[in-house]
Amino acid sequence: MRLELGVVLVTTLVLFYGVTYRSTRSRYVGLWCLALLAIAAGTIAYLGDGTAVQWWANPLGSALYALGAWLIWRAARTLDGRPRWPRWVVLVVPAMVLLSALADSPATNSWAGAWALFPAVSVLIALASWVMWTTRRTHAGTLRRATSATGYVVSVYYLGRFVTFMAFGPDSVWFIDLFGTSMTTIVMTFLLVGATFSMTALSYEQQTADLRRRAASDGLTGLLNRRTFLERAELLRRDAERRDVPCVLAMADLDHFKQVNDTYGHEAGDRVLIGFAEACRATVRSMDLVGRFGGEEFVLMLAGATPEDASRVCEEIGHRLRIVQESAGMPSATISFGLVEVPQDVPFAQLLVEADQALYRAKAEGRDRVVVGRRGRE
Ligand code: GH3
Ligand code: MG
Ligand code: MG
Repeated sequence: MRLELGVVLVTTLVLFYGVTYRSTRSRYVGLWCLALLAIAAGTIAYLGDGTAVQWWANPLGSALYALGAWLIWRAARTLDGRPRWPRWVVLVVPAMVLLSALADSPATNSWAGAWALFPAVSVLIALASWVMWTTRRTHAGTLRRATSATGYVVSVYYLGRFVTFMAFGPDSVWFIDLFGTSMTTIVMTFLLVGATFSMTALSYEQQTADLRRRAASDGLTGLLNRRTFLERAELLRRDAERRDVPCVLAMADLDHFKQVNDTYGHEAGDRVLIGFAEACRATVRSMDLVGRFGGEEFVLMLAGATPEDASRVCEEIGHRLRIVQESAGMPSATISFGLVEVPQDVPFAQLLVEADQALYRAKAEGRDRVVVGRRGRE
């Protein structure tokens, strides 16, 4: 039976590694692979029971099971984005289990150290399940909770093993029937294979969300890219119409940016662009949109704002940009804005042209300023 579990585990591991890990390269999928590997190796080590090598193979098997349980917890923590611990921490619990087993006449006692292993597995798996249940990182709620619930079942099962083991001993009918090797093997086979498939689905889900986010944004600044900005701007405009509130479109262009690049280098220029994005994010409200149209040209769409409100927002962005630049010792670059009010029935492309014309005027009038286009003045 143990051999069978070992075979199932190795097959699952190979499939999971080959299909999921190789395509996602996600850290927690990697940790899950290591956990399966540790549990499979532990199962194989237990095959030494009843032979001459039992005295070391049995404690080794228990230590590997404890290691597997720890890695499952660690994988769950990674999924949740919790801080990493130093590598060696992983060895503490397995080492304790190993020592407990070695001190418990492992040559003749095939349950050596079980009193340490069972509660360790129970607690570690409960911790993993708890992290999994409470994480906010992934959207696949039902699947995540199912995986977490599976973990709780394993945890409770190991708690049952521990209690029965301590109360009645390993030779009692209770222990043999409910928590002995055969039952454990069946339960573990089911649960590990099930959990591995949920892990696969979860990791794909996370990867898809990640790709979607990256496809919508500009790689350097993290602002919306042109396509996404235009899509969302249309929605925001419709929303503003429904609520009957004004809306402003702003084009922004950094002043003499070529000179910044030529004087301080392209990398310093990139930092200014990132600083500008930060200044925008810190200033606008969450419903507003900020996009990078290319190079050092940006667009903003401010909902619920009149051209006067929007001018103040733009001035505030310029002010913040100066502060960011000064505090980070970046080259100073000013910025010019051209604004237009967004009416109901004018095509967006036309509004972009008008905002660009206002921006052109801001440049012509001496840069580092906000100019409101014709429409906003009517
Ligand atoms: P103006 O005040 O008239 O806008 O002058 P300018 O120098 O900013 O105008 P221009 O549009 O000619 O120059 C834009 C410069 O922006 C040219 C290019 O080197 C720089 N640029 C475009 N994209 C990037 C980028 O991703 N990173 C960096 N560092 N520079 C960029
Ligand atoms: Mg420029
Ligand atoms: Mg330009």
